[in-house]
Amino acid sequence: MVWLGALLLATAGAPTQASGPTPQPATASASASSSASASASVSASAPAGNAQRPSAPRKGPQDPMEFLRERLAAKLGNDASLDSTHPGMIRVVNRGATAAAATPRVAVASPSSQSTARPTAAPRAGTASSPPHAPAGPGHWDYQGAAGPDHWAELNSDFAACGRGSRQSPIDIRDGIRVDLEPIAFDYHPTGFRVIDNGHTVQVDLEPGNSIEVLGRRYALQQFHFHKPSEERIDGRQFAMVAHLVHKSADGRLAVVAVLLEPGSANAIVQAVWNNLPLEKGEPVVARKSLEIAALLPEDRGYYTYMGSLTTPPCSEGVLWMVMRQPVQLSAEQIAIFARLYPMNARPVQRLGGRLIKASN
Ligand SMILES: [Zn+2]
Repeated sequence: MVWLGALLLATAGAPTQASGPTPQPATASASASSSASASASVSASAPAGNAQRPSAPRKGPQDPMEFLRERLAAKLGNDASLDSTHPGMIRVVNRGATAAAATPRVAVASPSSQSTARPTAAPRAGTASSPPHAPAGPGHWDYQGAAGPDHWAELNSDFAACGRGSRQSPIDIRDGIRVDLEPIAFDYHPTGFRVIDNGHTVQVDLEPGNSIEVLGRRYALQQFHFHKPSEERIDGRQFAMVAHLVHKSADGRLAVVAVLLEPGSANAIVQAVWNNLPLEKGEPVVARKSLEIAALLPEDRGYYTYMGSLTTPPCSEGVLWMVMRQPVQLSAEQIAIFARLYPMNARPVQRLGGRLIKASN
């Protein structure tokens, strides 16, 4: 899910598109936190909205509007449900004593699970008496275990492409055809931003005004986010991390620029993002300074390109991928900070399936 740049700074009710490379989690994970993120694994309090989930039909497992409404209601100590006949409305039911009776609890740290617990969000399929690790509801996905990449397609009918798709991402980039690739025309400027931990990655939502032009089409930069390790490989080599810069054209096509990250000197852009890391998942921090996004790009603008998909559910295809050939550096400490939140959030490589890869000369 992509947070639209135009909706930056909105603290609630921000609509988003349904097909960004890093879908916003609508699901509140009930899974354990990783031991690597001990500080995030302790729930300050049980979800106030930890009551019977609303019976109204959900708009979709990835709908951030609903997620925000749920969070809002949870904050108010109530249980909210979406009125399906009035999609813009929130119905709040005061659960009074139930909410007040909620007791603090501690998520069990487990080295074998990802850090996806969202302490303050209402579990999707829980009741007030549910154990802390009750199975998450339909649509909850993760990077391992029963909700891991091998099972994404089974989790929700909307995720079918994750299993049946033939042009999926990421891939191991090798045997690219070397040609004179048209340079990507980056039109990036210092831009206001906000940082959100969406339960699957750290994402930077950007104000409008940045774009790329490639193959005669302009794509507006919406957000970028990180994976550890890199999802894409080059000749089998995986990198420490990758940043995915997600762009969208006026007619809705997606183009992602991947910047590979390797250990080395500290990265000022990454640091500016880490400086604004939210303390809570799902609660964006609006930065006070602008971000010079162009500084995240490598000096060598050579790249590989192929057609692929979102690397997260719903794994929609038709995404133009441009993977920058030259990695940029960030420090080991900066990697370690991300690893505290997401020790592993990379989808395995997918079959190439006869697709053409082009590479800059
Ligand atoms: Zn990504």
